[in-house]
Order: sequence, then structure tokens, then C-alpha cells
Amino acid sequence: MKLLKFGGTSLADAQKFLCVAKIIENNLKNEQIAAVLSAPAKVTNHLVNLIENAIKNKEIAESITFAEDIFIKLITDLFKMQVNFEYKSLKKTINEKFHHLKQIMKGIVLLGKCPESTQASVISCGEVLSVSIMKKILKAKNYKVSIINPVKSLVSIGNYLDSTVDILKSKDRISSLNINKKNIILMSGFIAGNEKEELVVLGRNGSDYSAAVLAACLEASCCEIWTDVNGVFTCDPREVQNAHLLKSISYQEAMELSYFGAKVLHPRTIEPISQFKIPCFIKNTDNIKSVGTLICQQNDSKEQILKGVTHLDHIAMFNISGSRIKNVGNIISRIFTTTSKDNIKIILITQSSSENKINFCISESLTNKTKFLLEREFQLELKEKLMNTFKIYKNLSILSVIGSQIQKKHNIASKICSVLGMNKINIFSIVQGASENLISLVIDQKNILTGVKHVHNALFLNKNIIDVILIGIGGVGNELINQIFSQKKILNKRDIVIKVVVIANSKKMLTSYEGIDLHNWKEKFLESKKLFNLEILCNLVQNNSFINPVIIDCTSDELLSKKYVYFINQGFHVITSNKKANTSEWTYYQQIRSASLKTNKKFLYETNVGAGLPVIQTLQNLFNTGDNLIHFKGILSGSLSFIFGRLEEGLLLSQATKEAKDLGFTEPNPCDDLSGIDVARKLLIIAREIGYQIELKDIQIEPLLPNEFKKYRNIDEFFIKLKKLDPIFLNRVKKAHKKNNVLRFVGIIKKRGKCSIKIEEIHPNDPLYTVKNGENVLAFYTNYYQPIPLVLRGYGAGKNVTASGVFSDLLRTIS
Ligand code: ADP
Ligand code: ASP
Ligand code: MG
Repeated sequence: MKLLKFGGTSLADAQKFLCVAKIIENNLKNEQIAAVLSAPAKVTNHLVNLIENAIKNKEIAESITFAEDIFIKLITDLFKMQVNFEYKSLKKTINEKFHHLKQIMKGIVLLGKCPESTQASVISCGEVLSVSIMKKILKAKNYKVSIINPVKSLVSIGNYLDSTVDILKSKDRISSLNINKKNIILMSGFIAGNEKEELVVLGRNGSDYSAAVLAACLEASCCEIWTDVNGVFTCDPREVQNAHLLKSISYQEAMELSYFGAKVLHPRTIEPISQFKIPCFIKNTDNIKSVGTLICQQNDSKEQILKGVTHLDHIAMFNISGSRIKNVGNIISRIFTTTSKDNIKIILITQSSSENKINFCISESLTNKTKFLLEREFQLELKEKLMNTFKIYKNLSILSVIGSQIQKKHNIASKICSVLGMNKINIFSIVQGASENLISLVIDQKNILTGVKHVHNALFLNKNIIDVILIGIGGVGNELINQIFSQKKILNKRDIVIKVVVIANSKKMLTSYEGIDLHNWKEKFLESKKLFNLEILCNLVQNNSFINPVIIDCTSDELLSKKYVYFINQGFHVITSNKKANTSEWTYYQQIRSASLKTNKKFLYETNVGAGLPVIQTLQNLFNTGDNLIHFKGILSGSLSFIFGRLEEGLLLSQATKEAKDLGFTEPNPCDDLSGIDVARKLLIIAREIGYQIELKDIQIEPLLPNEFKKYRNIDEFFIKLKKLDPIFLNRVKKAHKKNNVLRFVGIIKKRGKCSIKIEEIHPNDPLYTVKNGENVLAFYTNYYQPIPLVLRGYGAGKNVTASGVFSDLLRTIS
């Protein structure tokens, strides 16, 4: 005998019902089959809501029709797909059931309440109908079916909504049914009967438990739980994309996983199958061939020690404390006795070693009831001030890590705590040792997804994951995406995974929390209808559950640059090729640095000066290790480097500028390059890096062009006017040439941070002499580097080198 259980997701529509019938058929070849069925997906939730709304006297007629329509559509489709399917009688059954439900709902509306016994009958309707439908499908396929009525056969104790089955009594009842060995057995999950043979249910998600119980009662050789995932994963695969499938786990581990939140199994499922040593497989109806996960007694020792990370949400924590609390007798046993009398489960409990404090966690919905009961139990102690008033913390979650003999691995708890700490997630309580397979931590619910992802990543993957939000997809942003895409495999081999989760321009964005497919992102971006603006970005940042998130600013937007402090405070690294933040007022410049220091998040801007050239890092290394600047001289503009190089070769200023523009070396309006402002910004950034507290306005700029040029925004007009300057420049070049010198547009920093920008005659011995063709050069004369300066030279502009500079900053976030 084999037991198969099919969950709601496996019975979501007609196609799936037929697929389930096929699985039953395939298994029949070898042995007798008993199948336990849930309600079709969403039906139970719908029925629960229906009752809640009826109690609140809300409009319910439409909702009932909605649930009824699910079933009518199901059988209508089945009628089209399955020959000999008995549609009519089923339709009558469904109509009658829902007619009856409507009467019940009317009663609930009138009373304003619903007894638990009625609730149990209503919310389990879906299971009953699933079995009726499956019976007709199997009948249409000429199979004989026996139905076990769980109300009569599964004897249970407990309340109407959360009962526990007495297996021995149920076994007796089921064997007395004398079911024909050739028949397929069907039973509704979720349902059982109490001693009075009234219908009760086994708690939400309880069909798994029904299956385990029936497997035990029928002495099944194996129990298969068919669901919508390939088996048990190291984390919920719908929440953590890189969770991996477990080949096998022990009963004990499976119990802990489900008890602490892995919804794939109902927590009580394991008890019957482990008691009767029945192997259990979790399998996927959408992927029949997958082997699934085996749950059995003996855990495969070759497999990993760690098995999973789970979370339980909507938790409240009670804190019971008081300096004279030691004088109160049997506190813990009194807490347990009081709560268990009212079926309140204490999920975990901790006691501080000084015994002044006890923390325990319960489901948040039971907070008021628990508070009331405990205040009654400890009323004397509270009055006598032996105890403080209870502190209650809400909106918490319990994050648990499960593994075999996890206690024996010394560094697991420390890894969990440090990864949570690094991500600024507070731990309210930690429990280790209650079970040898478990470590649990209580944290804020708002951080739970981030926490789970980080802990899972740290314990199971050992990969460096970076979640990237990229803003700006002009030349540099675009090229950065290309570079990340083409490096993917190589980085993967080094255990680095870069997931670009958001790509945005000033108007819209493309998002994917699993990481955007960079192969065809452009088409997807064009299709995307998601709007983007600063407010949307700030919301996204605030509600994030990203891993090691980084915002990359490849724009030149000032408003965006003003948000860096906010991003950093929200736990993001910021990488920018935009110079606006570093050249804004000194106070903001400082705020960014202190936020970065305080939060341990990186602020990286290597491409602000010299594109990919390692300028900022070199400077930081130099001055952090005690060097001092004597003076600095550099060519900091690619376009001006090109233009002055061409002047030296005999071209006129207007010709050289035109050529630079045609080659794409200048801004759309070359006036912006010749104004020198961009060079001034770079010089300011270098000066501040060295430690000078100066502002942009402190930099003296000897303008290349007379002031009136600012007016010429029309390019043709600009070039006509520029021609008038040709003779002046020709003269200067000639004059310099006579002395064997060349002209260069240089940025200079002298003692006390005096910064200037000007055209200078450069002598052949100067490191700036040979630099042209768009190259940049930076010569640092320092205490360590003199009389020969430290010289950095190379292309200081262009999308390739800038993108690669941003990319290397990105990789520094994990170093
Ligand atoms: P069914 O309707 O088949 O009973 P459930 O929705 O109750 O299905 O349970 C399956 C779901 O459990 C999966 O879709 C998955 O999102 C969730 N789940 C949570 N934790 C885990 C885990 N560790 N491994 C696999 N699935 C998990
Ligand atoms: N249908 C019930 C529920 O949704 C039982 C189950 O699916 O296991 O809780
Ligand atoms: Mg389930």
C-alpha cells in the first residue's frame, strides 16, 4: 500500500486534477493506492474569509458565488477533457453544497458570530468536493473507488479547528472498514471526527498530517506528498532564489523545519510517519520526474550538516522581569501550565542566567489572551512588585537554522549573529541547545526576508552576492551592463554573483528581484511600464530585502546625488561616476563620509577623476600611510588633452575643437569642456581627498574662452566665434614652441590647497609634456615621491574605461 497526498496547488484546475489522476494510475501498477486530497488552491482561504466577512456583516453573496464558480468551472472543463465524466450529478452536489453554505452564512450574519464547529464544516468543504470530483474522474476511467469518511474513521481530540488524531483508535476503525484490496482509496484531507463523530479540522495546511495519519493507519510502505515544488529546499524557494533541493532529511530535521515555518509540510506530519518508520517523499506534480526529497529515519551522513533556514512570522514576545523575581516559585512551569490550558503554544522560551528575565514567544494573535491569563495567574506577584509589568514586543519573527547536530559545529551561531549584525539586524533573543538540530533567533519582522537571505547565503552558499540598482543607462551605464554580463561566468567561478535587480533611467525602470537577464535587458526595458523617479527609488530602498545592495549612479543628476546619505543610512553601498556629490558643499561631503563610516557601507567614486585610472585609491593609500603633498599638477580632461595635442601639431583652435567634437571626445556643446568647470570639479575632488577643506568657488580658473562665450548655445554660432580666437592661440603655441615648450591645460594644487586651472607652457622634462591624444596625467610631488613625482597616466575618459572603473568599485563592495 502506498499513500499519495495532493495539495491544493496540485488541484488548482481541471488539467491538474487529470494529472493527479494519472499519477494515481501510474502508481497502481505496483500496489494498492490511497490518496488524500486537499481543497483546490485558494478555496480554503476563500471560505475562511467568507466567515470573517459574514461575522462582520459584510456583503458576502458575491464571494459565495465566486467559490461556487471555481468548482463549476472545474467540472465544466473536466467534462470537456475527460470522456464519461459524470457532470450532472456533480453539478447538483456542488449546487446543493453551496446552497447549504448560503443558509449557514445567513445565520452567521444574523448572529454576528460563528461557532467553531460550524467554522470547521465550512472551511473543509473544498476537501469534500475534491474527493467527489476525483471519484468521478477515476470512475470515468473505470477504476473502483472506496472512500474513507475521515469524520467517522479518524478519531481525534482537541478543538474543532485544530485537532490531533489518535492513530491507534483510528487504525482500528479503518481496518474494520474491510476495504476491497483492488479499490483505489480516497480520503479528504484536513478533516477528522471527534469522539461525538462531529467534524473537526486539523489546523491550516493539515492535509499533510491527514496523509501521514492515514499512511500509519493503513501501514503504508511509503507516503508521497505531492506539491508545487521539487521537494524540501534549504529555504522557501519562492523567497530565496538560490535555495537548493535537499536529497534527504531526517524525521527530526523535517519536524523542526516545518514547526519553525517551512510551509511545505504541516508540523504534525512527521510524528505518525516517524513513529511507524514510514519513508516519506516530497514530490512535484509539475515535474513528475524529479526525485524529490526523502524524509526518513537515517540521515545520509555524507550530506551536509546544515539543512535549512526558515521563518515564523507574526510573533509576539513577552518579557517577564523583576529584581525580586527569584522569589517567585516555579515561574516557567506556571507559565506553561497557564498557557497550555488554553491551547496557547509557547514557541520558544529563554531565561537569562541571572534569572531576572524570562522571554517567551507566542503567535501574535494570542497576545491579549495570554496577557490576560498571565496577569491573572501572577496577580499577587505583580501587586507585590515581585515582578515588573509584562513587556510585550510585537511584529517579530523567528528565524531558525536547522541541521543535524548543529550544536557541535562551533562557528554556526557566530556566523549567523555576525551576518545579521553586519546588516544592522537586531537580535532580541537567541535559543541554542533546546534541540540539537536547531538555532533560533527572534528579530523584527520587517527584517525577516533580508535576514533569511543573508543567513542562507552565509551558511549555504558561501557566495558573494551583490544586488545592484543601476541608475543611468547612457554610455557608461550601458557599457557597465555589458561588462557585468560578459564577466558573469568568470566571476561565478570566483563565487561572486552580481544580480542587477533594477535598471532605471530618469523616467522608467526595469526590475527583477531574481536579477534581470542582461542578455536581453534592452528589449525588456523598452517594454517596461514601471515609472521611475526619486520618490519611487526612495520607497524601493526603504522596503528592500536585497543582499549586499549597491546603488550605482551613472547620471549627472544633482538631486539624485543629494540622496546618497539616505541610501547609505538605509544599508546601501553607493558607487558613483557622478561628480555632483563630491563637489557639493563641504558639509554634505562630510555627511556622506560619516554615514558611510557609521553604517559600514562603502561610498566609492573612483571614476570621478581620471575615469578608470586608480587615482582616488592611490591617494587614499598614500595619505593614510603618512605621506604629504608638496604639489600636484595634472591634465584632467580628455577632450582638452586632445585639443592641446592637436594645437601643438599645428591645428587651429577651432579646427582642433571641431575634430574633438566629431570624434565624440567633447560634451554635446564643446563650450562646456573649454569652460574648464569639469576640470575644476576634478581638481576639487583631488584636493579634498588630500584633506583640503575647500569649495568649488575657491578654485581659480583662467578661462580658455572669454566670458561672452557662455551665451553661444548654438553650436554653429559657437564655432564661428571660436575662429576669432584662432590667431591668439596660434601665437601662444608658437611662442612656446620657440622655447621648445608645449601648451597644456593644467590643474594645479599648491601648498595650503591653493588650486588653480590654467594654460601653462610645459618644458620637455615635465611629465605632462608628452601627454596628449585624450590621455590624462596626474603628477603628485609628495614627501615620499620627490624629486621625481608619482605619475598616473592613461585614458581618463570614455565609456569603456569609466564603466570598468565603476565595475571595479562594485567588486570592492565585497572586499
Ligand atoms: P500544498 O498546496 O501542496 O499543500 P503548500 O503551499 O502548503 O502546498 O506548500 C508548498 C509551498 O511551501 C511551496 O510552494 C513553498 O513556497 C513553501 N515552502 C516553504 N518553505 C519551503 C522549503 N524549505 N522547501 C520547499 N518549499 C517550501
Ligand atoms: N485546505 C486546507 C488549508 O488550506 C488544508 C490543506 O491544504 O492542507 O489549510
Ligand atoms: Mg500544504
